[in-house]
Amino acid sequence: MHLYFHVPFCARRCSYCDFAIAVRREVPSDAYVNTVLREWGLRQADPVWDLSPEVQTIYFGGGTPSRVTPASIARILNQIGTDRTVAADAEITLEANPEDVTTGAAAAWRAAGVNRVSLGVQSFDPAVLEWMHRTHTAGHVPRAVEAIRASVIDELSLDLIFGLPAALGRDWAADLERAFALEPEHLSFYGLTVEAHTPLGHWTERGEVAPVDGDRYAAEFLLAHDALVTHGYEHYEISNAGRPGHRARHNSAYWRRAPFIGLGPAAHSGAGNERRWNVREWAAYQKLLEAGKSPLEGRELLDNAAIALEELYLGLRTIEGLALHQVPVPLTREWEQAGWATQGAGRLRLTAEGWLRLDALVPSVAA
Ligand code: SF4
Repeated sequence: MHLYFHVPFCARRCSYCDFAIAVRREVPSDAYVNTVLREWGLRQADPVWDLSPEVQTIYFGGGTPSRVTPASIARILNQIGTDRTVAADAEITLEANPEDVTTGAAAAWRAAGVNRVSLGVQSFDPAVLEWMHRTHTAGHVPRAVEAIRASVIDELSLDLIFGLPAALGRDWAADLERAFALEPEHLSFYGLTVEAHTPLGHWTERGEVAPVDGDRYAAEFLLAHDALVTHGYEHYEISNAGRPGHRARHNSAYWRRAPFIGLGPAAHSGAGNERRWNVREWAAYQKLLEAGKSPLEGRELLDNAAIALEELYLGLRTIEGLALHQVPVPLTREWEQAGWATQGAGRLRLTAEGWLRLDALVPSVAA
């Protein structure tokens, strides 16, 4: 079983973010735990989602899970441990913003069972952090890393964003080097996307910000790939790299189409051909559960074609790739000649150049 908890609270909204969040100066930690544990209780009684007796991974994502009290995280983990068997080597991840990570908080998370922290760094450039409306400064990051290491949380992942507008003058290579200097076990890097109804969406619409062009985006992606390999990381998924033996197990379960249960507002669950998702807003989610009702907003049954397409996407975005027989021979040849894929041990894997074209390549296999 793989569990995801969506913790929706943030101190303010970042300029590019369209996630399901609730901006709160004071975070209602107790209300959150009471409500999400009510949902957990309802899920216990639902045989469809009784997927496995043993919990393999737990992921607190957001939003900003580091803004609820460490005691709240402990309460949730205690309850799961009471109701289920949590595997001795379970991966338990908490997403944190650097300014929330103190020695005391990190030690309390570790005592609660958290053994992996994913730190939302995004950039080390003060002007970029300000433009992003982030609530931390570059100086918070090394202090947070020090606190995490002092608490003996062994697995540290850093999140970075690339593909920023050229006018910001962001030095992507320098940011990567600063990340490597902190010696994280894992790095995630995501290209900036412009979403409507965000400050960035409005700036772009008004012509105040020119979105990054494709060439710059590609150059930064390839630079990251080369730098990761040079520093001994395995670039094992389009946006993720880890030191050998340090892949993100929770996210890897999604990429394998393993069943997962999502709890909290806007959380999604999936098993087999079924997908379910909760109401998006915290207030609506809380109200439903306080009334003893399910927070489920919708469900979808994937047909065979949709599952096959999903398998192609998920396979090609990881270095596991696809079995050779899944890709027509002429395409395999074409991709190899273009430098977009390599084959070995009966599998076809996209290269970094191929990953840049993922959205174009998958439909050609499915056609
Ligand atoms: S901290 Fe994360 S979830 Fe919160 S507003 Fe910023 S990007 Fe969105």
